[in-house]
Amino acid sequence: MKIKSVRARVFEWKGRTVPPQGNFCSNAMDLVYDNRANAHAAGQDTMNTFRFHGWTVVEVETDDGIVGLGNVALAPKIAKAIIDEYLAPLVLGQDPWDYEYLNQRMYRATHAWGRKGVGMAAISAVDIAIWDILGKSVNKPVFKLLGGRTKEKIPCYYSKLYRTDLKEMQAEAAKFLDQGFKAFKMRFGYGPAHGQKGVVENLKSVEAVREVIGYDNDLMLECYMGWNLEYAKRMLPKLEKYQPRWLEEPVIADDIDGYVELNQLTSIPISGGEHEFGLYGFKQLLDRKAVSVVQYDTNRVGGITMALKINALCEAYSVPVIPHAGQMHNYHLTMSSLNCPISEYFPIHDVEVGNELFYYIFDGDPAAENGFLQLDDHKPGLGLTLKTEYLDQFSITE
Ligand code: MG
Repeated sequence: MKIKSVRARVFEWKGRTVPPQGNFCSNAMDLVYDNRANAHAAGQDTMNTFRFHGWTVVEVETDDGIVGLGNVALAPKIAKAIIDEYLAPLVLGQDPWDYEYLNQRMYRATHAWGRKGVGMAAISAVDIAIWDILGKSVNKPVFKLLGGRTKEKIPCYYSKLYRTDLKEMQAEAAKFLDQGFKAFKMRFGYGPAHGQKGVVENLKSVEAVREVIGYDNDLMLECYMGWNLEYAKRMLPKLEKYQPRWLEEPVIADDIDGYVELNQLTSIPISGGEHEFGLYGFKQLLDRKAVSVVQYDTNRVGGITMALKINALCEAYSVPVIPHAGQMHNYHLTMSSLNCPISEYFPIHDVEVGNELFYYIFDGDPAAENGFLQLDDHKPGLGLTLKTEYLDQFSITE
């Protein structure tokens, strides 16, 4: 079996989207002064630069007609150019079973500029598509190739609860509590730029969600890199009483000293890794005890081949891996690793931030039932097909 073609297409969503609301999620841009003429209006939408309405979909085809699917959700046009210009020539004519060789080839050939960010995200998509081919070629789901079932089904946590009106947040939490979820992740709306009033608002929102879900269920707190070390040091002691399971990405991904300090500061476990890349990136986080929960995303970190190595490393450090986002490439790894206790789950939802776009591009992602996800033993590969239903709502670049 040889790889015959690599096709990367950019899917940009042109359909209806949920309008942005207020301070719905703190993020790294919150700390930067906005000098635009319409700054006030733009400032209302704090997630301006963190929307993922364009995705790169990769189809890798073999000479016997098997097509593997992968995707990138970071900088899609650049990811496509990297795949077309640099990665496709490295894998064409190669045997997909040589996945470690191919991953090393892509990683080392692009090392001068690839290493972290969109270069690794592009590699990830090709690697994921290769694993999809492997599963399909032996008629087995990918998780069976990675070690099989380590759990009967995958517990998952409800991930949304953007900062809106507190009553709306409570209604949202109540709705999904009723659906059987036992873990919930909420977003902070405020950071250093909002002063003490924002501190109070942040605390009120955690209190409001805890009021609904009680203390028998897990609550995760998400900062999305929207705080800085000084602000996080003020917030963490105040949040301890709410018993969060973790507090996610309090500072930007490069501030590793900040993570180290915060992870020792209180009883709250600090999580991160959604914006970290490759084996060495995670070795550094683990060696420094910077995070207590690792949250790589398989389609950023270097693909399934790289994720397997990071899983082994994390297991040896007794640090659980809970991949960022839903999606099959993450679920198959979670199913096959004892050290991956739970999955993030974005509900099927109208297009908003863009995390949910995989439901519009692909068929096959499982819907949560009673707080669990199930993978099909009889669906080969990742278990995905391209969806046709919404094709006319995307602008597609070949
Ligand atoms: Mg996150």
